[in-house]
Amino acid sequence: MVNADTRRNGDKLLLKSIVLLYINKIFISVKRLVIALGGNALLRKGEKGTLENQFKNAEVTAKEIVDLALKNYKIVVTHGNGPQVGNIYLQQELVADKVPPMALDACGAMSQGLIGYILTVAILNELIKRGAADYTVVTIVTHVIVDDKDPAFKNPSKPIGLYYTEEEAMRILKEKKWALKPDPRGGWRRVVPSPRPLKILEAPIIRDLVERDKTIVIACGGGGIPLIFKDGKLKGVEAVIDKDLTSAKIAVDIKADILLILTDVEKVALNYGKPNQQWIDSMTVSEARRYISEGHFAPGSMLPKVVASIEFVEASGERAIITKLGKALKALLGETGTHIVRG
Ligand code: ADP
Ligand code: MG
Repeated sequence: MVNADTRRNGDKLLLKSIVLLYINKIFISVKRLVIALGGNALLRKGEKGTLENQFKNAEVTAKEIVDLALKNYKIVVTHGNGPQVGNIYLQQELVADKVPPMALDACGAMSQGLIGYILTVAILNELIKRGAADYTVVTIVTHVIVDDKDPAFKNPSKPIGLYYTEEEAMRILKEKKWALKPDPRGGWRRVVPSPRPLKILEAPIIRDLVERDKTIVIACGGGGIPLIFKDGKLKGVEAVIDKDLTSAKIAVDIKADILLILTDVEKVALNYGKPNQQWIDSMTVSEARRYISEGHFAPGSMLPKVVASIEFVEASGERAIITKLGKALKALLGETGTHIVRG
């Protein structure tokens, strides 16, 4: 009897230690991750962008996100909205005589809902497939304050919507308060400012949600809906905030361990596309700054990703990684991607 009891107690103790060890392991290995998805997460070059098309592409993206969620990462997914908001905006222009057109900030809000919907269903389906249907996926319509004195408002640079002839462009310039510029591809296009994100209004709730067990948060879509604060009031503005810069900001706000930017190149390069091109495995913040000043990263594509990485690492002391969609896990294990670190 005594022996059996002692053994039972011993077994209980052993079980307790194993449970404690396991809890400890989970606790130590939990990392907060901001995953910034690029355009190709939902639409590939040359694709039309039907809903079916975007759902199909989202399956691949969802697999990658679920792989990480099941490895115990706490995840906030951010994403671009270029093609989607572009199409929504075009629809407004094309039937403006029949349905009142929505301004760009409203189109941005619509695109957050649309992309949130596609990603949520794709991620939930992958979770169900992997036997993890007890997760919650939630999209936050995210508002971001920008400065109405941001120099970007004086120099609108982001082309959107239809291509116009010079004659049409001149007429529009007289009728509307738009800025139009000749496009390198021919014709004229409306251009809007790309101001810096100053404050993400929903950051506190995004932080609470990501702390919750088994919860994946989708936020800051398209860089967030830009608002200015003027005469004591918040007001939407027609602008496009860079999604990588907003991703860096939310990563700092939620005290993320890693900012993971997933795009369509596995690594960042020096002399990109030239015969002396060289892939970068790792760079310190000061090296990254030097490469920027030497002009290695194209504005509007790789430059904002490197700048976002620098801003996150400087503010948090942690690591940013730029790699290709499909390589996230390998990159987190240090086997690929370009890692931006302190120093
Ligand atoms: P996303 O849509 O994922 O945000 P972008 O298309 O804006 O991504 O930026 C990724 C692109 O940046 C790559 O496809 C590549 O063509 C371009 N690029 C510009 N400079 C570099 C560089 N130095 N190293 C790697 N890629 C670069
Ligand atoms: Mg792209």
